[in-house]
Amino acid sequence: MELKELFKKAFDLEPLTVEEGTFLYYKAPLEELMFAGDKLRQIHNPGNGAGWMIDRNVNITNICFSQCTFCNFCRRKGDPDGYTTSIDEYIKKIDELFALGGDQLLLQGGMNPGLGLAFYLDLFRQLKELYPRLKLHALGPPEIVFLSKKENLKYYEVLGKLQAAGLDSLPGAGAEILSDRVRKIVSPAKATANEWLDVMMDAHKLNLPTSATMMYGHIETIEERIEHLIKIRELQDEKPEGNYGFITFIPWPFQDEGTVLSEKSGIESRYTGPDYIRLIAVSRMMLNNIRNLQASLLTVGKEIAMLSLNAGANDLGSIMIEENVVSAAGANNRFNAVEIQEIIREAGFNPVRRNQKYEPVSPPPVS
Ligand code: SF4
Repeated sequence: MELKELFKKAFDLEPLTVEEGTFLYYKAPLEELMFAGDKLRQIHNPGNGAGWMIDRNVNITNICFSQCTFCNFCRRKGDPDGYTTSIDEYIKKIDELFALGGDQLLLQGGMNPGLGLAFYLDLFRQLKELYPRLKLHALGPPEIVFLSKKENLKYYEVLGKLQAAGLDSLPGAGAEILSDRVRKIVSPAKATANEWLDVMMDAHKLNLPTSATMMYGHIETIEERIEHLIKIRELQDEKPEGNYGFITFIPWPFQDEGTVLSEKSGIESRYTGPDYIRLIAVSRMMLNNIRNLQASLLTVGKEIAMLSLNAGANDLGSIMIEENVVSAAGANNRFNAVEIQEIIREAGFNPVRRNQKYEPVSPPPVS
């Protein structure tokens, strides 16, 4: 296999195979991958802009039956520090979000056996009645699978009801690595790889904008990372013409601090900065049909995020007011609206404030 041919194939937006992607990952010099990733970013997003946004992460509940081995956030039913967020707490947090110039809530949390579909429908309706211009980027495929089993409804029906109640977009949470070998170890009680993909297929049919993610750097192989990217690409190929599908791809590394995976199984994060940049560039080459690629500033920090913008990423995500899940396992890179824009400028790009659909928004942000 010749690197030159693989780069040409990627620049022509032809789909690369598992073997080709794996070869690139292992063999291509990092600077060549960065060049290729950057060239492809320009094909997908001409110009010099790099996106960012303001949103707020609120956790609906921290009670979760799933007990994934990489998660420090979840509590069991009956634990003294288990909670479900009340409407009064949402109101306080949303008022703060609007005061900071944001209008989107990322609503995530555990799969709480005590909360059924009616709870979520009611919650979304109440929030939308109180704040008609609020955007709800909420739940994720594992919660949809859980609710579908609990209510004996199809994914499409659960998603349709949630959409009618106010769901604006579906995060790609819970993808981890789309390999059941890996999932049996890191998240055995959660949706399988095919269930995750099936939910996303139905979300695309309903034209809910979605994101695709990868939580890597634990027990997966490089081949499994590449297979994950191909599964996402193939599903994107099937989305109905004109529908949103996957708007973006966001990889972030396993944060190991205090996790069961680290403390009981001795599996520590294999994250390194150069490997993250390599993953960003290879993802850009593999995902020929996804326009946006977000680097996870929250987990990789300023320097690696800046290099990622020069390796194929075109977005640094949100300043994420209040994030409790990855920060519970050691991710502590916090930036405000001024700082994130400075980081983008320092990396050589123009900051473009955007909404969840990756559309530019104005006016300019507050600090
Ligand atoms: S990662 Fe999500 S699904 Fe897994 S235990 Fe934590 S809260 Fe539950």
